[in-house]
Amino acid sequence: MLAFFKNFFEKHSLDCYAAIRLSDCHIERPYLLERAGISDGTAVLIAVPYYSAAADDPKRNISAYAVPRDYHGFFKELFAELIPALEQAFPEHKFAGFADHSPIAEVEAAAKAGLGIIGKNHLLITEKYSSYIFLGEVITDAHIPCKTLEKSFCEDCGACISACPMGEIGICLSALTQKKGELSKEEEATIFRYGSAWGCDLCQEVCPHTQAAKDAGTLYSPIPYFNEATIPVLTLERLNQMDDESFSSRAYAWRGRPTIERNLRLLETLKGGNS
Ligand code: SF4
Ligand code: SF4
Repeated sequence: MLAFFKNFFEKHSLDCYAAIRLSDCHIERPYLLERAGISDGTAVLIAVPYYSAAADDPKRNISAYAVPRDYHGFFKELFAELIPALEQAFPEHKFAGFADHSPIAEVEAAAKAGLGIIGKNHLLITEKYSSYIFLGEVITDAHIPCKTLEKSFCEDCGACISACPMGEIGICLSALTQKKGELSKEEEATIFRYGSAWGCDLCQEVCPHTQAAKDAGTLYSPIPYFNEATIPVLTLERLNQMDDESFSSRAYAWRGRPTIERNLRLLETLKGGNS
């Protein structure tokens, strides 16, 4: 069965995947497994690289993951093709695809499956793409031969902790850009100071593993989905040009237009005021 996954993933430019026994995973949402009718078996984890060349734009004002279209769309398309193909090839088994809202602790499972190490920033760090990956998995009741490793951690260089503004501003910058409603003057000033309309990549940017992946030339996603329809610099004008369909395909859509619109307005207004 792993050969089937290998062939499928190769066709989709996915080269970072590994299997782990479900019994070696920490189950966080058992009801999702119950719903899929699976109580034991294997999780096939996939690390999907998303960093695009467009994300290198020096004027980028949103997190790198939000530059392409929402990754949930990628997994939806992937699973819509993969799950029926698996069901057809292995009709005696059950399969379910998950991303983000997963029954298992994904980062820990991915590290134990051998996909990478766990960073001090709590992200999975892969050798090839650093932490600029999304995790997803297919869970099946089939028992695929695989090894479980001890999870390993990064070298704890502390660069991500030093770069993180949370201690100073009292809230994660990414969470602040996603906060709904009115912001205090201090919060507005923080968003302006960091120039972010959505998210924060500081802990990933400074990580030596990101530099190593850049130096090795492997950081960029080879997957077309993450290199198409990229918007590295978002403006109020660009946002207003988006119809509801294109807006809903962006990673910041789940918070609704008012939140990202407020951030952009404050970036543009304060910039105008300071110029
Ligand atoms: S996203 Fe930014 S602010 Fe939030 S924890 Fe990471 S570095 Fe700190
Ligand atoms: S910056 Fe250093 S401490 Fe932080 S995740 Fe990367 S290697 Fe680990």
